[in-house]
Amino acid sequence: MKLVRNRYKGVVFFGEPGSGKSTAANLLSKKIENSKLLEASLVLKYALCLNRLPKTKEQFITDADDSYKNDFIDREKARKIFLELTRKYSKTIVAESMNAIVDRKYSDRFVIIAGARALDAAKYYKLHNFLVVYLECKNCDLVERLKGRNKSDRGAREEIKHEDDIYQTKKIKKVADLVLDSSELVSESIAREILKYLQEKQVVECKRCINSNLNPAVSFDKKGHCNICQFYLENFDVKALGKEFEEFLKMKNRNEKYDVMVGISGGKDSTAILYTALELGFRPLAFTFDSGYYPGHTFGRAKEVAKKFSVDYQMINIQPYIRDLDRKCYGEMAEMYDEPESLELRQRFLNLYQEGRKHYSIKCKHMMPFVRTCQLCRRTVIRAYYAEALRNKVRVVILGVNEWAGLSGAELGSGKISAIRKLKPYKNKPAVYVVHLPFLLQRTIEDTKKILKNIGWEEPKGEDLVESNSNSCLIALAAETKAKNMLGFHPDTTRLAREVTVGFLTKDEAKRALKKIHTSKHSVRDVLKKARLI
Ligand SMILES: [Zn+2]
Repeated sequence: MKLVRNRYKGVVFFGEPGSGKSTAANLLSKKIENSKLLEASLVLKYALCLNRLPKTKEQFITDADDSYKNDFIDREKARKIFLELTRKYSKTIVAESMNAIVDRKYSDRFVIIAGARALDAAKYYKLHNFLVVYLECKNCDLVERLKGRNKSDRGAREEIKHEDDIYQTKKIKKVADLVLDSSELVSESIAREILKYLQEKQVVECKRCINSNLNPAVSFDKKGHCNICQFYLENFDVKALGKEFEEFLKMKNRNEKYDVMVGISGGKDSTAILYTALELGFRPLAFTFDSGYYPGHTFGRAKEVAKKFSVDYQMINIQPYIRDLDRKCYGEMAEMYDEPESLELRQRFLNLYQEGRKHYSIKCKHMMPFVRTCQLCRRTVIRAYYAEALRNKVRVVILGVNEWAGLSGAELGSGKISAIRKLKPYKNKPAVYVVHLPFLLQRTIEDTKKILKNIGWEEPKGEDLVESNSNSCLIALAAETKAKNMLGFHPDTTRLAREVTVGFLTKDEAKRALKKIHTSKHSVRDVLKKARLI
């Protein structure tokens, strides 16, 4: 059987002595193509080879290797060095070293680890995307099996108890992904059950976009389309969008100095869109919102772009639009991102990620830590679009974001999927329309590239044409690694997936952007503090 290695790096077996871990691991490795079988004791063997243990844990982990093919070590010797290592470095030193070896040397293989021990190790492996299998076995069967290994009845019982005292083996059952009864099942059946489980958990990607079943909010139809693509394919109506475009052109207002505000970041999409707005005959006021956590270069670049097109430009501080309760959310967010990674935190991230999707409306007063800042930021910016538009006597805000949805402005074109969002928070005040122009024009990245070439725009060094939010938001940048580790998928997957759904990007372009690793010197808390939001 061939396995794609993206949900699980491999399988780790746990169980009491005599539960058949090694036999099952061996058999499983023969059934999986391109798998690599490793024995966790290799870390102990490696340690025994050393004259002196390195000073730091990091050094030990970096150097630990599976090429030290030492002789067999007995359980007693293994326990002794295990205790020494755990005392000196950490409780999970063996698991940490194994994980590092796997990442360093076997990242393209499906790894099967035998001989792993201890509850903390099981949690560590699980947290680092190994499937944790626990082989359960009746005590009398364990004793019989150990007796077959030249132990006396008493010796066997002591062995079992001793192992459980040191490693808390029985408790692993509770954290395991899969518990199998090795009293009942022969190794062949155990391997088969594991393969069945792995097959069920294979990562399935949407046929059209990059959403996958790693995201608990995504579901699929029979044709293999995710729920977002399904909605899009069922409801997209090009005629309605054409009608919307006509309505949009009528929004020009010759009585005021500007008829639209165009949000620009100095990036490719908004630059091309500002150009297009001028081409369409609008008289724009370009602007950039300053929330305190956008990279400093944003404003310089945006200003440059506005200057290039001889368009007036405003940098607008939107902190006055951030409510106290939103600030509290930022505080909770900082606290959550301070937490060390654990299985509990993973569950919290997954729950809050889904919860956050329900609370992004501007009227929402729900207080919670958000996994994705965008959900929280959105509450503020929409409020700011409305107020700033009125302040500048404009009724239309154009964005270079390729967003679409069953937006409330859909009435304009009568289609269910719309590029325009109508904001009308007060009965006695006029409406403001937020127009996602790339979608309205059904623009692809190729179209954008052509425009940029025409106007002589070049992407800044080290940046790609398609980027995740980490490139434009310092909170997203600081949160990226932890969010990705805890969710099991990149937090911007859904955003880029939507652009794939509509054909703006290809799957590969979106995936490349998500694969790019950004490192932040600052924590989420640092960024929020610097922005004076907490
Ligand atoms: Zn899809």
